[in-house]
Amino acid sequence: MSIRPPTPERSLTEMSREDLRAALLALGEPRYRADQIHKWIFARGARSFDAMTDAPKALRRKLEEAGYTIGRAVVEKVRESIDGTRKLQFRLSDGAAIESVLIPMPGGVFTQCLSSQVGCAMDCKFCYTGTLGLSRHLTAGEIVDQVLLAPGTLPAGMRIDHVVYMGMGEPLHNFDAVLQSIQVICDPEGPGYSHKRVTISTSGLVPQIDRLAEIAPVNLAISLNATTDEVRDRLMPVNKRYPLAELIECVRRYPLPPRRKLTFEYVLLGGVNDSDDDARRLVKLLRGLSARVNLIPWNPFDGTAYARPDDERVRAFQRILLDRNLTVTVRVTKGLDIDAACGQLGERPDAA
Ligand code: SAH
Ligand code: SF4
Repeated sequence: MSIRPPTPERSLTEMSREDLRAALLALGEPRYRADQIHKWIFARGARSFDAMTDAPKALRRKLEEAGYTIGRAVVEKVRESIDGTRKLQFRLSDGAAIESVLIPMPGGVFTQCLSSQVGCAMDCKFCYTGTLGLSRHLTAGEIVDQVLLAPGTLPAGMRIDHVVYMGMGEPLHNFDAVLQSIQVICDPEGPGYSHKRVTISTSGLVPQIDRLAEIAPVNLAISLNATTDEVRDRLMPVNKRYPLAELIECVRRYPLPPRRKLTFEYVLLGGVNDSDDDARRLVKLLRGLSARVNLIPWNPFDGTAYARPDDERVRAFQRILLDRNLTVTVRVTKGLDIDAACGQLGERPDAA
């Protein structure tokens, strides 16, 4: 089965203002028309050519005939957790479903967790999305559509101020589309996020981390999840290709802007990677790095044999890191009641 998107959709939502000017120029249209259409899509939220009431009808038809669309993803379902987390389900033009999670942050703002693929090929053993396998990559437009459509699902006055590529999929496996989506999301004329407010989370694809470093100065989060190759090989097959030493060496050369930290995510699995020795090895691995560790007590799903460690074990693990002066947070589990927590994303077979 192909992992490429099924229809080569030419969505205008994956274009920066410059890209759109070039596309319209190729159709014989002047710059100001491109700017007008760009404004309709990114500032006024138009989702059809017919909504662009002040653009000439002939131009709207020309765009349609050239095969352009304005993103065809639609919000199909919004579920709200008792803790305020919201899970959005999008239906794509080929019928596939993806999810975005809006996580409430202090100050009344949200962080949006974006999907980059339908499913995931990396096969991490503790992750629900991993059990689904990869159906296909998302297009850049489908990633940007999540950003464009999410604000409309929030009550008035609430806004989103960070995006993290931590939803379904391994973003660096879908490198070109993810990079293009970052360019659009960070376009000052578009959604206008600064690179500081964008984070890519990866299971550790070394060559792609190096490539990313050359192109886009976004924040980087590494899903580490183990402190020995033996355990990481078992949990995350990607470790057989890029073992720990190689991964850590790669992040050491990541050009961090001043005062920024790399994030290391560490899913705590009871009896697997949560011992005091693991904590001490973690300290050693990260020595000399400007790093923050995010401990994530494992979120359960049916059909696996893993266990979530108890709070006391989590605290003991955290204490060892804190005592060695590492910055550590324990991720408060959010959205557990609506299957929106880390590693739980993916349509359930019985989804209503
Ligand atoms: N594929 C990327 C981003 C999506 S996964 C990556 O792996 O980094 C986002 C985070 O959720 C990762 O840090 C992953 O380790 C974590 N995760 C996956 N399954 C989990 C689960 N069941 N419980 C808690 N965290 C999980
Ligand atoms: Fe994919 Fe990330 Fe889940 Fe691993 S943890 S299977 S890379 S989504």
